[in-house]
Amino acid sequence: MPAPLVVQKFGGSSLADADRIRRVARRIARERAAGSDLVVVVSAMGDATDELLALAHGITDDPDSRELDMLLATGEHQSATLVSMALHALGLPAISLTGPQAGITTDGRYGKARIANIEPRRVQAEIEKGKVVIVAGFQGLSGDTAADAEITTLGRGGSDTTAVALAARLGADRCQIFTDVRGIYTADPRHVPDARQLPVIGYEEMLDLAGQGAQVMQARAVELGWVNGVVIEVLSSFEDAPGTLIKEDPFVEQRNKVRGLAHDRNVAKVTLVEVPDRPGVAHAVFAPLADGGINVDMIVQNVGHHGATDLSFTVPEVDLARAKRILEPVVRDLGFREMTTDSAVAKVSIVGAGIQNAPGYAARMFGALATAGVNIEMITTSEIRITCMIAEDEVETAVQALHAAFELARPDDVTDAADAGGPTASAVAS
Ligand code: ASP
Ligand code: MG
Repeated sequence: MPAPLVVQKFGGSSLADADRIRRVARRIARERAAGSDLVVVVSAMGDATDELLALAHGITDDPDSRELDMLLATGEHQSATLVSMALHALGLPAISLTGPQAGITTDGRYGKARIANIEPRRVQAEIEKGKVVIVAGFQGLSGDTAADAEITTLGRGGSDTTAVALAARLGADRCQIFTDVRGIYTADPRHVPDARQLPVIGYEEMLDLAGQGAQVMQARAVELGWVNGVVIEVLSSFEDAPGTLIKEDPFVEQRNKVRGLAHDRNVAKVTLVEVPDRPGVAHAVFAPLADGGINVDMIVQNVGHHGATDLSFTVPEVDLARAKRILEPVVRDLGFREMTTDSAVAKVSIVGAGIQNAPGYAARMFGALATAGVNIEMITTSEIRITCMIAEDEVETAVQALHAAFELARPDDVTDAADAGGPTASAVAS
């Protein structure tokens, strides 16, 4: 029987300095000693990516996106080489590869490239030579020939995507994402002291949590895992503790329907006041934002009075200035009264498969927020999520109130016990 293949990914905080890199190497060595073949995906050390970005912005306000990707990719090159050297120091054969060397090709969108293909021959050949293969995460190669080969990066947090994509392509037996928390929690433990770690969470639920601000994993990586049926384990690189499995969840029907909470402070609200109430206006507002690559999330249009209406929506806070610039001519041309913005807002969400078909969840959410004195400014729902926009300084109050109202600290007895006895749980504890 061939050795099991394990893909492990280590995030920046797990690789922040030489000591931590040596610790990661020991962890890899332990897995190796257990008989696994290993592909290890690494992020840049600590805050290296932020520091490289700051360097670029120290040179110019508007760095060229192609040069920026060349620069950012070096962060992962550094950590890959250092992890490989740390393994050598333990007497283990290892080799570091850049994303392009690992055969990862992408489309040509700098800063947010999508993986097009993985040609795994080099990685497989190194594994066959008995080496642990360290792959620089977050990057790939675009272009069809050597003449137009370009380094691209996959967007912030993209090493998760590299790891899941490699696990899918190589048919890995396990895909482990090592991070600085133990796994996925019912809410951010920094705000909610009795937040509970989940033994398992469904792909769809995880995707909505990640999309609504839970920062443990890049949403795209979860999506990729879902599409390819890769079971993803999220676990701590600092302690030996069982993590959380992200996988198809057979117990969804029996669980507490709210699985977790997420919050996102990185949002801003834009309100267009006295917008003429006639066909084509929403298109005139949102088309240029879409062309500018700005993601619009919650949208609320009020009932019209005297032929005019107010239109509010949210954009990522980092895109607010650009959104304003894009909308100023639209406001002028279409004769809106004014545009107001507010970045001191945040979103809180309850997420769980089946929320939509179970009556009373929205009412309970609104009731809990009302009792806590938190005002709701906007509401959106999806099949598995209800999101409220509130004042940013009320996030903590809101998540604590919701965590209590939905009894998330209480274990899901039957089903969690089933998970603990499941076939994959012992793998987590290895
Ligand atoms: N180093 C990149 C970032 O900070 C990619 C990653 O960590 O996954 O976003
Ligand atoms: Mg904000």
